[in-house]
Amino acid sequence: MIKRVEINYRGIFQKNLGKKIGSDIVIIASRMGRIGFSNGRYSDSPERNGIPCKYFAFVSHDLSEEELEAECGAKLDIDQADISVVLDDTMVKGVEPWGWHGVRAINEKVQPGGTLLLSTKKTADELLQFIGRKPYQWNIATYEGDPSFGGLWVFRDDLTHERTLGAVAGIDPDIIGIEAVEDYLNYKNPKEPFRAEAARKAYDEVRATKRTVNPGEGIEWTHEIPVLPKWFEFMEGAAVPAVKRHFEMGPKGQSRNETFKRGTTKTQRPVVRFDICTKCTLCWLECPDECFDPTTDGLYDIAFEYCTGCGKCAQICPVQECIVMVDELQFADNSSPWEAYTQNRENYVEWAEKAKSKGRYIHPFVTGTGLESVQGEVVPLGGKRAAQTGKEG
Ligand code: SF4
Ligand code: SF4
Repeated sequence: MIKRVEINYRGIFQKNLGKKIGSDIVIIASRMGRIGFSNGRYSDSPERNGIPCKYFAFVSHDLSEEELEAECGAKLDIDQADISVVLDDTMVKGVEPWGWHGVRAINEKVQPGGTLLLSTKKTADELLQFIGRKPYQWNIATYEGDPSFGGLWVFRDDLTHERTLGAVAGIDPDIIGIEAVEDYLNYKNPKEPFRAEAARKAYDEVRATKRTVNPGEGIEWTHEIPVLPKWFEFMEGAAVPAVKRHFEMGPKGQSRNETFKRGTTKTQRPVVRFDICTKCTLCWLECPDECFDPTTDGLYDIAFEYCTGCGKCAQICPVQECIVMVDELQFADNSSPWEAYTQNRENYVEWAEKAKSKGRYIHPFVTGTGLESVQGEVVPLGGKRAAQTGKEG
């Protein structure tokens, strides 16, 4: 018997977190007399900010260490998971984790009766609006948490690590048990009982939130999944078609390559208030992924399929409240915001202000206290901001 856990994390930002969870599952399992093995999948070259990546933990009650490693060691991915952990809930919109071969459903590997386990502040029903349906019953469970972004050499010590260990124990004690999790955390941190307490809290949470997802629940997965040739199909003289390349400046052209869309790497998305844009060109010039398209009226539309959510445009825009980064899960698709704006300006501005008020994030990355949603200033359509008119409030 082998229990398989995959830990879906955002490249760079959560690398140390994913690795720590995978290795601690193995250590705790071994303290319970089980055999464990953990590895990470080579993701991209180099692993990039935000790209969906995976670590794995395998636990067995009856195989030897050598047998388990032989079974699980040299694979780039697994076929089925007992638990798929998701450390950033925006990955429910799909992950393109390796070699850019298709946007995959986050629950792709969850086997019949397996569980998708998410650190999130949303409910399972809210998340199922984005998750692909499956032909069999599976489970979903949540425990409260923000995306815990650190960095390549940085680990944000916000208890997501401990909570995830407790959550895994809550879903499947055949992988690790909650008492063993608590013993381990107290052994490692004898003066910090709050770590084991955080694990126990998540353990209780996932047992309360876990629910069965029936066939047909979720959305139809429409992303095309490329079928790659197997190694034994590479005959002598086989040619793999080259990736299409082009460099074409101008509206809707830019130097983007349609094969390399990085939309699944984003946790946040810029909302643009076109009505207060001064057409300064800075967002168009500075976006690292060349997402901005000049429009016929001198504004700049955004191609969200290419947007990585880096936030640079929001930082560089000189007009306050003109570009604001908000929670990616507020968006159902990648449609053009400029087209929505030109169709109905009043409706667009009302929508933009609502999106800004619901999910404006600050301190998303290495420094700060984590993701905080704050209230911003409401700007009327085409209107000057209060600061510009000298008024308060
Ligand atoms: S967040 Fe802004 S700057 Fe960054 S990739 Fe998206 S559009 Fe470009
Ligand atoms: S940086 Fe801001 S003001 Fe300048 S063109 Fe872009 S959206 Fe408009």
